[in-house]
Amino acid sequence: MKKQKRRKKHPKPGEPQRITKAVTQIRLIEVNPGKLAALDALAPVYLALCQQYVTLFCTQEAPDKLRAPCYPTPLSERWQRVAIMQAAGIAQSWRTNRAAAYQQYQQDLARYQQRVAEGTLDAKAQEPVWCEWNVPTLRQPCIQANANVVKLEPSRESTYDYWLTISTLSKGQPIQVPVKLAEYHKEQLTDPKTHQRRTLNTSVQLHQREGTWWLTLSYDEEVPVQTPPDAPIVGIDVGIANFVTTSTGKQYGSFHKNLRARHKRDRAKRRRKAKLRACLKKKGAKKLPSTSSRTGQRLMRHVKHEINRAVNQCFAEEEHQGVHFAYEQLSVASMRFKAKAQNAYLRASHLGHIPQQIQWNSQKRGVLATPVISAYSSQECSVCHYTDRKNRPDQRTFRCQVCGFEAHADYNASVNLSRRVGDRALRACRDRAAIKAVLMQRHEAWKQQQGRGNTSLGKRRKREKSSDAASI
Ligand SMILES: [Zn+2]
Repeated sequence: MKKQKRRKKHPKPGEPQRITKAVTQIRLIEVNPGKLAALDALAPVYLALCQQYVTLFCTQEAPDKLRAPCYPTPLSERWQRVAIMQAAGIAQSWRTNRAAAYQQYQQDLARYQQRVAEGTLDAKAQEPVWCEWNVPTLRQPCIQANANVVKLEPSRESTYDYWLTISTLSKGQPIQVPVKLAEYHKEQLTDPKTHQRRTLNTSVQLHQREGTWWLTLSYDEEVPVQTPPDAPIVGIDVGIANFVTTSTGKQYGSFHKNLRARHKRDRAKRRRKAKLRACLKKKGAKKLPSTSSRTGQRLMRHVKHEINRAVNQCFAEEEHQGVHFAYEQLSVASMRFKAKAQNAYLRASHLGHIPQQIQWNSQKRGVLATPVISAYSSQECSVCHYTDRKNRPDQRTFRCQVCGFEAHADYNASVNLSRRVGDRALRACRDRAAIKAVLMQRHEAWKQQQGRGNTSLGKRRKREKSSDAASI
């Protein structure tokens, strides 16, 4: 489930960014054997109830944290409220992502139909198909608890740091579990300025993995923005072949090679499973094998880890100290892959993790990063603004049809993004067509400036090529 990182809305320029930081991997200690049995007993009941509300909020009702309980359960009313709130949160993000993906599908379909009507369809183009999303399945017990069910209190004796008082299935019989922090936890929880222990948030997360319970604590921190207002802007393009490409000509992380091979194996496995399911269903089997895969989940974690590493490297880069980043403003699901073949590699959530991670890194480091409009950033020429699908002969190449500028496609896009901070004309556009019109106006202006195009295309192409090589 989601790591506990609550992010606040974008602060105004110069305002400190308030972020919630998680203290993870605190193992719950079992002082005497069987001490956590009550928690073990509660977990599956909680998980099942939470799942019921997730399904309800995804399929029948709008997510509502205050919804009256409607399923029978041995859990106390306080526990039910916690489950309903958690389920509402999960369902809300699922609905948002699904809606964005569906909207994207409809746009794709409209574009496809328009091309059919115009007779400009590529021979290889296929009609977009909508595949309905599955309702999220909760697999591992993960409890986002508030102080009503799990109370966190500092310990009076020095053996332990805190005590957790956890309500259980038996009314009036909470269990008390000590919490012992490791040195690195203590370090993280000490404010370097005041040397005082930070104030912890009252909500905690408990999750169980392979029989062990883990605790996640959190605290709020205000990070002042250190980027000067006139800092140079570096654009970040997000993709699969290269997770992060910057307008300084650097690239970090890739889904190719190892990850791609692993993903292929996982897909093959999924397909076999799906076939088996279909076969068993035909024969009328009642119990079908699950479609989820353990290797798939592991792979997803691995991809996210690789993404985190790539974004971290980008922010830590010497050349990027004191700069202002501009990145694609994309919601998780509207992250659409720039080539059809790549659709299969990754689900939208993977790629959507990149901008999330950029935002998170900027907040925790006090670096300014501004999301900008990304429409046509991959088709626009960063030299003359000419915007056309034909500027992309293949996935990695950008080659302008007019001025002949040629560069790595992601690099060209990152340069465009770097210029879109504070671009009011683009922000005023209501749809993609309006954005394209603005870009083409800029192209016209560029042509005028170039002396109405009296140099030959070949000459210009050569010149742009060499200046491009020098700039990277
Ligand atoms: Zn051009």
